[in-house]
Amino acid sequence: MDSISERVAAFLRKAPARGHCFRCLAASLDTAETELHRIAELLMTVGEFRVINAQCYRCRRADTLLTFNPFAHPLCTLCRRPMPPTAPKTILRGLAYHAACWDRKARSAGGSGPT
Ligand SMILES: [Zn+2]
Ligand SMILES: [Zn+2]
Repeated sequence: MDSISERVAAFLRKAPARGHCFRCLAASLDTAETELHRIAELLMTVGEFRVINAQCYRCRRADTLLTFNPFAHPLCTLCRRPMPPTAPKTILRGLAYHAACWDRKARSAGGSGPT
């Protein structure tokens, strides 16, 4: 994840119950809305964040909000299945993998040369 994504993620993690619309996020984080839509897609692939339709915590408009979902298990980047907190996992550049999935990927990338 790049630094802007990490700022957005950190901002949302601090207030898990509070959804923010993209306009308010843009104002709070001094980031373009278009950039935030790109970041939202990135964050949703990790599984901890989701986009919902609800009332914005800040401006009270009903809109599309980006929220942190503290109850979601992050999804494995490779197999797309959730990863319970107890599962062995590997985190690389902000992306989470089951340890077993990562091993398989590392082995297939390392062993047999370019494909
Ligand atoms: Zn708002
Ligand atoms: Zn996996």
